[in-house]
Amino acid sequence: MADTQTGLPDSTLVAQLIEAIPSPIYYVDTEGRFLGCNAAFEASCGLSRGALLGKTAHEIWPKDLADTYQAGDIEVLEKPGPHVQAAEAIFADGSRHQVILHRAAFFQEDGSPGGIVGVGWDVTDRVRAEQELKDHLQFSEQLIETVPSPIFVKDKDGVYLACNRAFEEFCGLKRQDVIGKTVFEVWPMELARTYRSADDALLKKGGVQVYEAFMRAADGSNRNVIFHKATFNKGDGSVGGIIGVYWDVTARKRAEQALRHSEERFRRMVENAPFGVLLTDEHDAITFTNRRFEELLHYPAERMENLETWSALVYPDTKYRAEVMAQHVRDIELLRSGEMDASPVREVQVSCGDSIVRDMEVVITVEENLVYWVFNDVTVRNRAEQALRDVLQAEALHDPLTSLYNRRYLDQALEREFSRAARSGKTVSVVMTDIDHFKNVNDTYGHDCGDKVLQAIARILNTHIRKGDTACRYGGEEFTLLLPDAPLESAVERAERLGELIRDLSVSCDGTTIAAVTMSFGAATYPEHGDTPEKVLKAADEALQRAKSEGRNRVAAAYEFRDTP
Ligand code: GH3
Ligand code: MG
Ligand code: MG
Repeated sequence: MADTQTGLPDSTLVAQLIEAIPSPIYYVDTEGRFLGCNAAFEASCGLSRGALLGKTAHEIWPKDLADTYQAGDIEVLEKPGPHVQAAEAIFADGSRHQVILHRAAFFQEDGSPGGIVGVGWDVTDRVRAEQELKDHLQFSEQLIETVPSPIFVKDKDGVYLACNRAFEEFCGLKRQDVIGKTVFEVWPMELARTYRSADDALLKKGGVQVYEAFMRAADGSNRNVIFHKATFNKGDGSVGGIIGVYWDVTARKRAEQALRHSEERFRRMVENAPFGVLLTDEHDAITFTNRRFEELLHYPAERMENLETWSALVYPDTKYRAEVMAQHVRDIELLRSGEMDASPVREVQVSCGDSIVRDMEVVITVEENLVYWVFNDVTVRNRAEQALRDVLQAEALHDPLTSLYNRRYLDQALEREFSRAARSGKTVSVVMTDIDHFKNVNDTYGHDCGDKVLQAIARILNTHIRKGDTACRYGGEEFTLLLPDAPLESAVERAERLGELIRDLSVSCDGTTIAAVTMSFGAATYPEHGDTPEKVLKAADEALQRAKSEGRNRVAAAYEFRDTP
């Protein structure tokens, strides 16, 4: 059924063939007038071939489209052969579509051009898809560019394909310095080796790879970074290479290290601190004790399991334990509620493992559910303080030169003995005594020798009185004896005896001997000479003055009680 002249299929067959082609096909004459089209063309533009026949593009379509078609037709006629032109076309629903027009001139038997045949190709979807792909790629590119973490892409031979701005900034390199090169051409050998072996491992295994390494920064320093790398696939599913991102963890690492150091320091400090540290959790379990705590309590840490077992050990008295623990619980509650900033220093008596009860100060700190207990052994301090208090008290009541009691003590003792005597109906005698012409001793031998005489006399007074009697330095070279239970006669006798002993006294000083010191005495008794210490003292002093005026070196007894008028 071929055309015998052209060798082409006969025209009916061609017409049927054209009709069956699913792409729109049309033909126009050299003037651009419609000669015919196939069914696909009719369907696509929504016009029947009858309506189109003999019309030009300008008569059918808007001017802008018609102008394009006409310009294309002219080109085709001028330059025969296939032409391809991107254009728009109006479809049956009135919408404009992107089309590709394939056009060629056809010729008449005499060789003159007969017109143009055109095939339209709706590429709207393809164009849209391409645009979307382009947009998508652009978006991805912008996204990668905007990400503040350095990103790089390498092919599977380790050649850099791309990197982002953050990468450039981090390394201080331009992408053209990196792209197309391997890690060995960009980085120092030891870093490049690390990267390459990691890349090789990743390419072999696939998936995601995370590792910590160094990266050379713009300032030439090596920074601690964490790499996240993954392989990516090409369109055909084969591995295309590696995409990687990393971030600088140098500062974080340093901070972590600093924290670790400070924790270590703190731990060392706590371990070696001179106080015991105990840590309990929200269940009152003991979670930490320092070495000193064990030493302090003389209990091994194993025996201090929780607060209950521990407190039973160190506060064996149940009543005391209940008191102490209740106070601690109150302190903890106040600290937790914020009503109290710092726990007051509590002093407790701790029964230690070596059976010694020690005074300890306890300070509590709370931190969320944890409670820190700090124990400080103050036993030695307390003892020293007590000793000091004793010394100070002794000093306050004693005369430093002679070590006899002083007048302050005498006043207390007088009160005490007088009330006792009042209760028991007994007597109390008081002897006042004064060295005779003591001024002469000072003048002759000097003040220091005078002091020695005072000390020697004080010794005699102190050693020759009964137990229960008290000798005091009343002031200067005056002394007072307090003799409880002694009647006046006994006091006088005692004074006489002391007077003798002093007369016999000799004191050596500065190579000379001081002798023949005498004293005068005045004695008075409660209740005979007064019902108060003041009255009896006054009576004794009056007697002393009398002894002086009567020639010294003697004892005078107070006269019988005369109440002051
Ligand atoms: P009388 O017999 O009248 O008591 O004569 P007297 O010289 O002892 O009395 P006076 O009151 O004139 O002098 C007391 C002296 O005692 C004067 C003073 O310097 C001396 N004296 C007082 N206290 C001390 C002391 O602590 N050390 C010394 N070395 N002398 C003292
Ligand atoms: Mg005197
Ligand atoms: Mg005197």
